[in-house]
Parts: sequence; C-alpha cells; structure tokens
Amino acid sequence: MNTRKEHIDNAKKIVVKVGTSTLTHENGLLNFDRIDKLARQLSDLHNQGKEVILVTSGAIGVGTAKLGIKTKPETIPEKQAAAAIGQGILLHIYEKFFAEYGQIVAQILLTKDDITNKTRYSNAKNTLNELLKQGVIPIVNENDVIATHEIKFGDNDTLSALVSSIVDADLLILLSDINGLYDSDPRANRDAKLISLVDEITKKIESFGGAPGSKLGVGGMYTKIKAAKIAVEHGVSMIIANGSDDDVIKNIISNKEIGTLFSAHK
Ligand code: GLU
Repeated sequence: MNTRKEHIDNAKKIVVKVGTSTLTHENGLLNFDRIDKLARQLSDLHNQGKEVILVTSGAIGVGTAKLGIKTKPETIPEKQAAAAIGQGILLHIYEKFFAEYGQIVAQILLTKDDITNKTRYSNAKNTLNELLKQGVIPIVNENDVIATHEIKFGDNDTLSALVSSIVDADLLILLSDINGLYDSDPRANRDAKLISLVDEITKKIESFGGAPGSKLGVGGMYTKIKAAKIAVEHGVSMIIANGSDDDVIKNIISNKEIGTLFSAHK
C-alpha cells in the first residue's frame, strides 16, 4: 500500500481537469482570476520539469453566456452551437494567460470515436506525446460541435481519465466545486467525513458517489468515481479536489492533505 505522498512525489506526467463551475462565475461569464491562477500554477508545474495536460470544460457554458441566453441549452444543436462559440473564447483566454507565463499551449478536441478507432487513437496519442516532447501544454476538450450521442464521452471526467490513459499519465487531478469524496452527503450530514485515500474502489466507496442524477450525484461525484475506476485500472492515480482554492494544484503537489486520492493499480 502506497501513501499519498509517494503517488504525488513520483508523478511526472500530470493531467488536470477543470469543470465549468471552476472556470465561470454563477452567471456563466469567465472567472478571469481563477483562469489566471490555473495558468500560473500549471506553467509553474511545467517549469518544475513536469509534463502537463489540461482537460477543460466550459465551452457550452461560456458560449451560452456570450449569446446572452439565461437558460441552459437543451437540444444537441443548441449545445453544439454554444460550444462552437465558447470553445474559441475559452482557448483565446487560456492562450492569453499562459502566454503571460511564457507557456505555449495547443488545442486538442476529441470524440469517443478517436479512442475506439485504432488509427485515430494512435494519431491522438502521437500528437499529444509530440506536444509534450516540445514542452507544450495541450488543452483538451470534447469536440462537442461534431459529437452526437453515440460518439460522445458525455462528460469531461471520463474524457480526462481516458486522456490520462492515452498519455500514460501518473496523476489525474479533477477540480470541481466539491472538496472530495465524503462518507455521506456533507450537505445533509454535518458529521460527514472526507476520505483522504482510497486504495480500492469497493461497492461501499461507489455507494458514496450516489446514483447518476441523484442528489448526491450533483456536482458529478458519480462520474468522478467512474473516471477514477478507468484511471486506476490504467495505472493513473487520481485526486478529486476543490478548484475554488486558489493554490489547489500547488498545495496538492506539495503534499497538503486535501481532496481524495484514488491510488493507481500497479
Ligand atoms: N465539453 C463540455 C463543454 O466544454 C463539458 C462537459 C463536462 O462538463 O463534463 O462545455
């Protein structure tokens, strides 16, 4: 059994996934302060000799806000149109902040087809590895514009776990609006305890995530545990932590006991 420290200290290739709630204000507009701090911490990781990949959500949310629409788009074409608008805005702002820290970034948009089709899979893998070799931080999102139900990952938690497996990452950090995995719903139970280390994703651990769409699943704990299963099976340790802490990535890497770590299978 490894300690948290070993998993983190040995991590050379790190994938960080940020959710829309971390990147935007409640009205859907971009949270520049957060994005700046994210770019700064990831550039700093890169300067420490780590290989870094960012998986970002936010295209649909940002596109919807740009159009001035108050309700979430529901149909696939509406979401795709919003994503087409939002993805450009998102990349523009990442490019700007990363450039401030002297860091080159690249855009990678994937669908499930790119993982299941052998040729596309190896193309994606080769491109990602070449970018890392050249010292670039790839910024990945689902290609919402062309993805239909059949070829959709559906959520970026799953996408980030699969990207971690494609590049043989050591650590996946999932940032969202929750502190980690609790042994009961912290909103309903004041005594709920945060679980710091999960060595084995047992049925009991899975039950802490709740069912898809259940109250407990809000904030996406269900999809996060699903992602953790994919990650650990591929030898990637995964941490769930709160993206609203300004120094969250720095704190994780310097071994502060925050969030929940799922340890990789050997
Ligand atoms: N690809 C979606 C977007 O950029 C996000 C999916 C998710 O949040 O899991 O809006």
